[in-house]
Amino acid sequence: MTKILKMDERLANMIAAGEVVERPSSIVKELVENAIDADANVIRIEIFDVGMTKIQVTDNGSGMNLEDALLAFERHATSKIKTEYDLSRIHTLGFRGEALAAIQAVAKVTLKTKTETDDGVQVIYHGGHFVNHEKATLNRGTVVIVEDLFYNTPARFKYIKSEQAEKNQIIDIFDRLALANPAVRFQLWIDGKLTKETFGQNDFQQLIDQIYGTSFAKDLITFKERMQNIDIEGYLVSPKISRTRKKDISLFVNQRYIRNYRLTQAVIDGYHSFLMVNKYPIAVIHLTIDPQLLDVNVHPQKLEIKLMNESLLAFQIEQEIKRALEQKTHAIPERFQDIYRPKEEQYVVQQFLFESEAESPETSPKIPDMEFIGIFSGTYLLFQNEKGLYFIDQHAAEERIRYEYYYEKLGQPQKSQRHLLIPYHPELTKMDWLIIHKHEEQLKEYQFAFKNEQLIGCPVWLRETEIDIALQDIVEQLSETNTIDLAKLRDALAKDISCKSSIRANHRISLLEIQQLVKDLRACKNPYTCPHGRPTIIKLSHYDVERMFKRVVS
Ligand code: ADP
Ligand code: MG
Repeated sequence: MTKILKMDERLANMIAAGEVVERPSSIVKELVENAIDADANVIRIEIFDVGMTKIQVTDNGSGMNLEDALLAFERHATSKIKTEYDLSRIHTLGFRGEALAAIQAVAKVTLKTKTETDDGVQVIYHGGHFVNHEKATLNRGTVVIVEDLFYNTPARFKYIKSEQAEKNQIIDIFDRLALANPAVRFQLWIDGKLTKETFGQNDFQQLIDQIYGTSFAKDLITFKERMQNIDIEGYLVSPKISRTRKKDISLFVNQRYIRNYRLTQAVIDGYHSFLMVNKYPIAVIHLTIDPQLLDVNVHPQKLEIKLMNESLLAFQIEQEIKRALEQKTHAIPERFQDIYRPKEEQYVVQQFLFESEAESPETSPKIPDMEFIGIFSGTYLLFQNEKGLYFIDQHAAEERIRYEYYYEKLGQPQKSQRHLLIPYHPELTKMDWLIIHKHEEQLKEYQFAFKNEQLIGCPVWLRETEIDIALQDIVEQLSETNTIDLAKLRDALAKDISCKSSIRANHRISLLEIQQLVKDLRACKNPYTCPHGRPTIIKLSHYDVERMFKRVVS
């Protein structure tokens, strides 16, 4: 049975026309996408002379019968959409029926193909003209050979800027296709040499190893989230490795590579505190979305896609990345190490910090006496003393202080309850309330009292502005474990409350507040890092500064 139909004119016009074959790399992309659409799981790409003499793509997909193989070369011949209704549910990569038609017009094309049941066939087109068809012997699947590209349109040659640039472009496209299709086995042969391959085992650690290299796959951080019917999967290369360009932030929607400024920025922002300025992460984000919520027809090469709820999605991605990185890395932010490029890593905070100064911990304070000299970038408080220059990250310090406060308070649940004169309406969903009511008895022990959907009493130590955070954390834990695990709750709550209620970066604080901050930090059990492990205070000794100015040689 014939699978390919010619689209009606109106439908064809609904689809933005695009130039599909402006250069060899775009041909590679189209041919490989066709193989993926044909459900191939092994795809071999061979390139000679950056594709100018020969591009060959071999797949083990569904193949075509003779009738389809002939039709495949015609403009707007596609097996993928037949009606307007289909257009809103596209799940294939191609659907315009333009690629093969356009390629055969500017090259010599041989297509060999075989379905499970039909005999193999070969169809040849040269420069837009049908040459012949005959029987062919091959396994199920398709081989497309494109030779002498642009032989009949010499003007096109000018688009090929340089061999190396084109080769890089082909490798980029290969990387994206491979990262988009972790279950497909890819091989890229360039001038007879196997240049890159993946194993198609649906394993991102392995895939990132094959695409980027072993050191990139090491410490790979992953997360999976579902939000409003969108599945988000992230594969984050450790921030210890970074790039100077955004190119290696790869976004995929339904296994289609896309460009999207907002979401790319969200990834960068998620990595923000872990990377130095002007450095970009290497990350792969896969989104799975109902095709009806997408408009894939925005850009002729389908790289740009309109997403609904884009801001919300961006926010979610940023938060997920932050959370995942904070959990997994206890690394000192690169920013610092990179700026000064220490020879023997002695700038790593724990080492160059205060341990050595606090010779006898009882007598000398953990945080030394220092003179406040200013604020840098609205966030970092600068101090000096005879030993050197100190930076305190206002936000991180405040987080540490609040964390220890709450950790202690939560550790000794007092019996004193604060009755709220005006009942409080917490920001909780119906589902949350079900959970709260189910555990009301247990919550009473922690001095929380409820009446219907109102809070009428809470522990004395809980500030009014922090009630919502606390209740949301409690609900989250109850819904996950069905019980209150005090040790865990204590840590989670302390972290969350401290993080969410601390001074935000860029908030202007008064001198009085600064003094209080240093005093409180000094009183902390562990003043050197925030609850997520980032440093609160960093020191540059006189020696460090002199070395940076090359006044001393180390
Ligand atoms: P589109 O992919 O937009 O449908 P193309 O010109 O790329 O248009 O391909 C035309 C048709 O040829 C496809 O719809 C598909 O049915 C068939 N086809 C092309 N390449 C392959 C392949 N490798 N395996 C099976 N069918 C293919
Ligand atoms: Mg196609």
